[in-house]
Amino acid sequence: MLQYWIRCRCGHHDLTPVPNGQPRLRADVLRLARCSRCGMQAAEDMRILWKAGGNAFEGVHLMGTGELRKDW
Ligand SMILES: [Zn+2]
Repeated sequence: MLQYWIRCRCGHHDLTPVPNGQPRLRADVLRLARCSRCGMQAAEDMRILWKAGGNAFEGVHLMGTGELRKDW
């Protein structure tokens, strides 16, 4: 499953599924994203991740390493 990892200027970051598995342009995602914590629109950074399997902690672990998965 493809996911966006999106970070807000307030420091909040989260993963959200990519609709239909068709990622939008980075510029569009950054512009359209809205933070669920502070409500601000326009994100500071985003990445596209491939999340395999159902382990909810996998994405968190990957974020901790600062590495992007290369297999998407
Ligand atoms: Zn925010």
